[in-house]
Amino acid sequence: MTRILVTGGAGYIGSHGVLALKERGYDVIVLDNLVYGHRHIVEDVLEVELVVGDTQDRLLLDNLFATRDIAAVMHFAAYTYVGESVTDPGKYYRNNMVGTLTLLEAMVAAGVKNMVFSSTSATYGVPQEIPISESHPQNPINPYGTSKLMGEWILKDFDRAYGLKSVIFRYFNASGAAPNGLIGEYHTPETHLIPLILYTALGKRPHLSIFGTNYPTPDGTCIRDYIHVSDLAIAHVLGLEYLFKSGKTEVFNLGNGNGFSVKEAIATAREVTQKEIPVLERDRREGDPPILVGSSEKANNILRWQPQYPDLRDIIAHAWQWHQNQ
Ligand code: UDP
Repeated sequence: MTRILVTGGAGYIGSHGVLALKERGYDVIVLDNLVYGHRHIVEDVLEVELVVGDTQDRLLLDNLFATRDIAAVMHFAAYTYVGESVTDPGKYYRNNMVGTLTLLEAMVAAGVKNMVFSSTSATYGVPQEIPISESHPQNPINPYGTSKLMGEWILKDFDRAYGLKSVIFRYFNASGAAPNGLIGEYHTPETHLIPLILYTALGKRPHLSIFGTNYPTPDGTCIRDYIHVSDLAIAHVLGLEYLFKSGKTEVFNLGNGNGFSVKEAIATAREVTQKEIPVLERDRREGDPPILVGSSEKANNILRWQPQYPDLRDIIAHAWQWHQNQ
């Protein structure tokens, strides 16, 4: 069986990546430092081997690559809180940039030549045109986005210098949960819109704050491209198989190409949950562009990737199923 090392496999998107790999017949080892990840998801739910450690630990990586016959790496491990990246940038550059560099150097030393890398639409910064394609200029406006862009640059240089090939995915707004109810989103603290809406529906929060109602959008609230986490996960498997087959470095957006406003997301959640979901209208949150919608035509054409759950109702319904069971 082909063995894949999944860094960050105990986290939200990484755990869905592990599930997709397992369903496709791959052998998986997870490397996770468990700062934000969950041991029991890997060991008890996904039933996959977990190595607790850090991507900055070169000795640990050398040992893993020397002993475990790893064919490729899916590199999800990263810190992803935009606000924290502004107040504590060193934490983000160390983990996201130095961690990626250390991992890549260990891969080169061990002769492991393929990586699927989690990047982000946050590398684009404030969009100049919608929908955003892969050739849109990248001008991140926070250290999280910059740390991911640095990862992309390092990968391109490592291809040129050492022939290390990568598929880079720039995600739009990952959301939802596995349709089979096994795994879902479980961040502490939680800052993302859809889980916060659902916590409010469950009565765990008194209200949902809407950050800004005076944006230049039809209802005044920000518009985002919500993409089902299981669709992201399948794209990673397709990306891996593209790498094995073509041996070419490529970058792809992953989104639905449809935008929904904060108010539309709340209205859809009210329909799905049949709960009231009280809201408070607040000031804008710093650093939020009014509209972020991506074009994923390239992934559709080259990887033959088509989202299975493009409907926001399905995305919210799967997340709701997960949150109700927690
Ligand atoms: N948002 C909101 N209230 C919240 C959390 C988020 O109004 O409690 C808005 C946020 O301003 C943004 C959208 O919802 O316009 C999506 O935010 P999220 O943090 O989920 O993802 P981001 O687009 O920042 O990656």
